[in-house]
Amino acid sequence: MARLLLVSNRLPVTVKVEHGEVLVTRSAGGLATGMKGPHERSGGLWLGYPGDVSRLQPDQRAALEARLEELRYVPLHLSPGEVSRFYEGFSNGVLWPLFHYMLDRVPLGGERDWESYRRVNERFADLVAAHHREGDIVWVHDYQLMLVPGLLRKKIPNARIGFFLHIPFPSSEVFRILPWRTQLLEGLLGADLIGFHTLSYLRHFASALLLVNGLEANVDRVFTEGREVRLGAFPMGIDAAALSTLAGSPEVAAEAQAFRQPGQRILLGIDRLDYTKGIPRRLLALERLLEREPSLRGKVRLVQVTVPSRTNVEAYQGFRSRVDELVGRINGAYATVHSVPIHSMYRSFNERQLASLYRAADVMLVTPLRDGMNLVAKEFVASRTDEDGVLVLSELAGAASELADALLVNPYDIGGVAAALKRALTMPENERRQRMQNLRQHVLEHDVHGWAQSFLSTLEEQSEASHGRA
Ligand code: UDP
Repeated sequence: MARLLLVSNRLPVTVKVEHGEVLVTRSAGGLATGMKGPHERSGGLWLGYPGDVSRLQPDQRAALEARLEELRYVPLHLSPGEVSRFYEGFSNGVLWPLFHYMLDRVPLGGERDWESYRRVNERFADLVAAHHREGDIVWVHDYQLMLVPGLLRKKIPNARIGFFLHIPFPSSEVFRILPWRTQLLEGLLGADLIGFHTLSYLRHFASALLLVNGLEANVDRVFTEGREVRLGAFPMGIDAAALSTLAGSPEVAAEAQAFRQPGQRILLGIDRLDYTKGIPRRLLALERLLEREPSLRGKVRLVQVTVPSRTNVEAYQGFRSRVDELVGRINGAYATVHSVPIHSMYRSFNERQLASLYRAADVMLVTPLRDGMNLVAKEFVASRTDEDGVLVLSELAGAASELADALLVNPYDIGGVAAALKRALTMPENERRQRMQNLRQHVLEHDVHGWAQSFLSTLEEQSEASHGRA
């Protein structure tokens, strides 16, 4: 097996100092789980930002570097200015809203942030090049690093490079708005394989190539600068077997039971507090349901977990109070002495607590206005070892292209979501079970390990064809 150089904005670690000692804990996110096996087996490196370590003392810093080296993680330290311009300003301030079709969230200007984005991408490419050995496979992840494949290709013409985009690729008419559209496409075309979650993102990318660069893709192949670049759809999965085992444990079943109240149905929402997740409209759909169906008042409770996120980015700052206001208004209107319709929590939970929540829910509400994939939807399904529970899923999430047995909704259609909620709450048990069995089969069969393997084997095949090497 070739050595794998993984490149992502963040290293999959959290660095903490406790009692003067540096603690490096590995994070359990989707990418970290999927890459763990290939990273260990290939004996390769993972390059990325370890978080802000500027407050560490010199000996603590040395301890950190030693621990990272043991894990075969190579840190790329970002200055506060780089974090604010490359990461918050350009990646999360410009690319994130634009790629999620939220054009009114894209700030004016952005030139200075673009400059920083370009420079940090250069720094990443330089670091990868410094560690690269003949025969390595480089796998670059996500929208923060779209220029890295092209920059690296210039430095190492025969490198084997893959890129995976974890967010949607928007319609070419939206993408073309970006003043830096040509540079971004050229950056991506440095890869041998460019992966997306769905075929529709791939098609949007191919249209953008034609519109912006005049390059015509032949289905999933594009010729440029004497090389063939392959495009592929690789819908990301989760570690479904592990989550299913955890969720099926007696402890989780007991905790889930404790969340439930007699005579009350639980609706569940779990999201980062992000304007793409459709939380306000979801709340309005619940309000509509309670308005239309007085018999449900006091009988349903929406447990909404919102995880703090990107609190330094301007567009996120006013958003929290908007959500809180809506929650307050709806609770004010429909609370009884015994119950409130929305039980809102602004915090994060660990995997076991999440599994208990997933198992306690009657209906899971995943209603983003756009989402590259949405792993929460898949986690809900994997957790339902009891083969019960209904998933209401936005048709604008990547997961919708796989999970046809969910109740698919247009998240902008508040009346439609309210109707789907009612349908979910009144669905006969045999239909719920049939749908959940089908969903489980898909999620268990298409897990994150298969996803990583299939991307890597396609990349090996493609780079062999392009560079004539094994
Ligand atoms: N998550 C978590 N703690 C929480 C809530 C969510 O660890 O309190 C995890 C969740 O299990 C999922 C991820 O955060 O794996 C969210 O991924 P998703 O693809 O749904 O959305 P993203 O946040 O990446 O846009």
